[in-house]
Amino acid sequence: MELGMESEKCYICKEEEDDMKHTFIQCKFAGKFWKLAEEKIGIKFRYKEDGLNGKWLEEGEGRDKETTEKLKAFIAIALWWIWKNRNKMKFENFS
Ligand SMILES: [Zn+2]
Repeated sequence: MELGMESEKCYICKEEEDDMKHTFIQCKFAGKFWKLAEEKIGIKFRYKEDGLNGKWLEEGEGRDKETTEKLKAFIAIALWWIWKNRNKMKFENFS
């Protein structure tokens, strides 16, 4: 979104402002996904203020480097999937 543009509502839940933090973390849709991921792979994803730029997950907690790398790949796919769905909602429900 360009500076100066009016903020738009989230295309998925239509409740909150459409921004990165909302779309990828706070939106109900993203939340459901992260919760599912947590149940399936047993990793709790935490959001940090610099989350979208850097530390999406903490290494350690018994996880080795290889597992952490796999998780990072998983997160990249997850973000892509959330983004794709968001765009689908945006462009297919365009009125
Ligand atoms: Zn939303």
